[in-house]
Amino acid sequence: MGIPSLKTLLIKRYLCLILVYAVIIFMAPFLHATDEPVDKLDIVVIDAGHGGHDPGAIGSRGKEKDIVLAVALKLGDYIEKNLPDIKVIYTRKTDVFVELHERANIANRNNADLFISIHSNWWTNPNTRGAETFTMGTSHDERNLQVAMKENSVITLEENYESNYEGFDPDLAESYIIFNLMQKTYTSQSIEFADLVQDQFRERAMRNDRGVKQERFLVLWRTTMPSVLIETGFITNASEQRYMMSKEGQEYLASAIYRAFKEYKRNIENNSAKGSLKLPEREERPVTYMTVATDPDLQEDSNIYYMVQVLTTTRGRTLDDFSFSDYGHVAEFKTNNLYKYAVGKSTSFEQVSRMVPEVQQSFPGAFVIAVQGGIIIPLSEARNQNK
Ligand SMILES: [Zn+2]
Repeated sequence: MGIPSLKTLLIKRYLCLILVYAVIIFMAPFLHATDEPVDKLDIVVIDAGHGGHDPGAIGSRGKEKDIVLAVALKLGDYIEKNLPDIKVIYTRKTDVFVELHERANIANRNNADLFISIHSNWWTNPNTRGAETFTMGTSHDERNLQVAMKENSVITLEENYESNYEGFDPDLAESYIIFNLMQKTYTSQSIEFADLVQDQFRERAMRNDRGVKQERFLVLWRTTMPSVLIETGFITNASEQRYMMSKEGQEYLASAIYRAFKEYKRNIENNSAKGSLKLPEREERPVTYMTVATDPDLQEDSNIYYMVQVLTTTRGRTLDDFSFSDYGHVAEFKTNNLYKYAVGKSTSFEQVSRMVPEVQQSFPGAFVIAVQGGIIIPLSEARNQNK
């Protein structure tokens, strides 16, 4: 046998990585099964949408951020008073801005068993009314996508949003293709809870029931537990706005969600006692996030590097396509069927940030990414580790 070529080594290396990830995916449930109880629902995260300088949808009299905070606090109150074993965690309890990825992080970090995001809806037609509950998924429905695009667009109010969301453009329909790479987890549990919420809205709060829907909401994509996003009603409909702004309306909405929660908890625990349906085990960061460098040296380097990502494409390029001699090495990354290219490797965030305006003259969409062990990691995570 001769000396293996560099290409063979690279292929072997890459196959190895794929194998490692495959093992992680399949082992995840078993890794957690031993150290966490799976038969109880005991932590819920309540997420009041928007806040601070992000008002959400604006009606003639009120703002979404105020309505949903009131409903969220009342919901938490009902749960804490009536189900004292449940730990309630809020993403916000006051009128403050919370970044979208941080909302999901709060739920993931606390190993929540359920994530409830509360919003109110907006539409051009003032006659459109009713409540609807979304779970993560794809609907192929233009209006649903527009609801998701509007809710997702709040990330543009965040600093560094291009980096924190890996270049995702919430206003560009084509961007939503990345969600096709996702793993669908907790779909049935999320829908089960969403169904119960809509039942309560219809039967007890007398809302127009617009049903349970699937759409690509960033905040639902990033959570690693059953998750729903509730649109309590249309702020653009005069009577629903009045209802949602009234103390009575807010109490009805919160108590409807509370009743759904209580029933969902009972179902989970009954099913678990019977040994049939278990509360799903939690998993680590969704595997679809892993974007891996094809360069083995970068994979073995545990330092955090910053680079400027210049391009994402479905087809690999030869590195000759790039004329970045000024920035030296061009790194290639691969995630499922996408390739990403980045330049200007440095451990200094500031140094790399300074390169961006110049690189943007050739690649207008260029932005800073963070890399560790050959994997693109969220910029916020890298910056935290560097603190
Ligand atoms: Zn909203």
